[in-house]
Amino acid sequence: MAATLTGSGIALGFSCAAKFSKRSSSSSSSSNRRCIKMSVSVEEKTKKFTLQKSEEAFNAAKNLMPGGVNSPVRAFKSVGGQPVVMDSAKGSRIRDIDGNEYIDYVGSWGPAIIGHADDEVLAALAETMKKGTSFGAPCLLENVLAEMVISAVPSIEMVRFVNSGTEACMGVLRLARAFTGKQKFIKFEGCYHGHANSFLVKAGSGVATLGLPDSPGVPKSATSDTLTAPYNDIAAVEKLFEANKGEIAAIIIEPVVGNSGFITPKPEFIEGIRRITKDNGALLIFDEVMTGFRLAYGGAQEYFGITPDLTTLGKIIGGGLPVGAYGGRRDIMEMVAPAGPMYQAGTLSGNPLAMTAGIHTLKRLSQPGTYEYLDKITKELTNGILEAGKKTGHAMCGGYISGMFGFFFTEGPVYDFSDAKKSDTEKFGKFFRGMLEEGVYLAPSQFEAGFTSLAHTSEDIQFTIAAAEKVLSRI
Ligand code: PMP
Repeated sequence: MAATLTGSGIALGFSCAAKFSKRSSSSSSSSNRRCIKMSVSVEEKTKKFTLQKSEEAFNAAKNLMPGGVNSPVRAFKSVGGQPVVMDSAKGSRIRDIDGNEYIDYVGSWGPAIIGHADDEVLAALAETMKKGTSFGAPCLLENVLAEMVISAVPSIEMVRFVNSGTEACMGVLRLARAFTGKQKFIKFEGCYHGHANSFLVKAGSGVATLGLPDSPGVPKSATSDTLTAPYNDIAAVEKLFEANKGEIAAIIIEPVVGNSGFITPKPEFIEGIRRITKDNGALLIFDEVMTGFRLAYGGAQEYFGITPDLTTLGKIIGGGLPVGAYGGRRDIMEMVAPAGPMYQAGTLSGNPLAMTAGIHTLKRLSQPGTYEYLDKITKELTNGILEAGKKTGHAMCGGYISGMFGFFFTEGPVYDFSDAKKSDTEKFGKFFRGMLEEGVYLAPSQFEAGFTSLAHTSEDIQFTIAAAEKVLSRI
C-alpha cells in the first residue's frame, strides 16, 4: 500500500508505524489508554447516572425534526427510553451532553474502526481544510483513495465515489441494469441496501427495527422488479432464476448481514450465488458498505475468497465523513458516465475532506496485525458476553468476524431474518438500557450489528463483559 501511495507522488506524511507496533508489545493497552484524552474514565465515574440534558435536548428536537432525529434507529424506539444526545467522542469512548462516558460499540455505525477522532486523521483534515473544503473539480486525493481501494478490494478495477451507502447502492443497481439490459434483481429478506425505492422491500436496519411495512411513498412500479429470498436459502434463489429466466440483472447481498443482527452466510450459500449468477448471465453485487475494510482489508470478498462483479462501499472509506463508492470489473464500470452512458453524478462527490479522512483511515488499517487485533478483542468480547448469558441462565447465541459482532436472545442458530425475529427483543431492550447505565453504548436495536475498533483495549472488553454479567443477572 505504501508503494501505491508513493507511486501517486503525493507526500502524505504518515507516522503511524510507531503506534501500530504497540499492538504486538505487552504495553499495548496502557499506551492506547494514553491516547484517550477524555477527563473522566468509565472506571472513575462516580456521579449518579442521569440523562436530564439529553432528555431536554431530545424533547426540543422532536419539534424540529421528525421523531427528533435524522436517521430512525437513533431514536431508541425499539429499546425504550429516549436517545442519548452525544457531545464528543475519542478513541473507544463517546460522551453525552450530561457528561456520561460510554465504551462505544456503535462507532458511528461502522466508520470509527480506528477509533473516534484519531489524532492523525484530525491533523490531516486540518491541513486539507486550509486548502479548501470542496472544489467540484478533480483533486489528487481522489486518485490516492481510488488507488488504495482498487489495490485492496479484489473485485474493484475502477471505482466511483459518492456520498453515502444509499447512493452507492442506487448507482450500482442502475449500472447492473444498464450493463445486462435486464430489470429484475434479487435481494435478501432483512438485508438493507439504503433507502432508495427499489430496495425498500423486506428491508433490514431501521425498517426491521421499527417493524415497518414496506414504506408508503414507494411506487409499486419501483419495486415490481425487486425479487426477494430468505438469506442462506440457495434453493429459493434457484427457484427465482427458474421463474424469471433471462430477466434477472443481479443479486445484491450483504455478504455478512449486519442489518438484521449479525448473520453469517453458509459456505454453500455464498458459493452458490456466485455460481448461479455466472450460469445465468447475472451480476453478483456484494454490498460491502458495512463489511468493506471491516472483516478484512479486502472486505468480505477477501475473507471468503469469493469475487463478485460489483461492490458497494461506504462508512469506513470515509473515515467518519460522508463517503460511499461503487466499483468492480473495468468493462462494467466503463459504462458509467462520462466514460459511458449510465448517468450518475454528485456535487460533493470525491471532496478533499472526505478523501483525506478515508485515506488516513485505510492507511492505518493496512498496517500489519490490524485485523488480527480486531479479531482477538472481538472474540474476547463475544465469548465473554455469551458466557455471561450462560452463567445467568439466558438463552443467547451470537458470533463475530474481525471487528463486527452480534448476539441474539434466542437459542439459535440464526441463519436468516425469520430466525433473528425469534430473539426476545423486550429482553434486548432491558439489556441495552442496563448496559447504558453501566457505561456501555450498544446499537439501540436487536437488529443491528456491533463494531469494535483498534482503540478498544482489553480493559474495555473486560469492563464490558463484567457490565453484561451484572445486567444479565438482574433482567
Ligand atoms: N448498505 C448497507 C449494507 C448498510 O449497512 C447501509 C447503512 N447501514 C447502507 C447500505 C446505506 O448506507 P448509508 O446509511 O450511508 O446511506
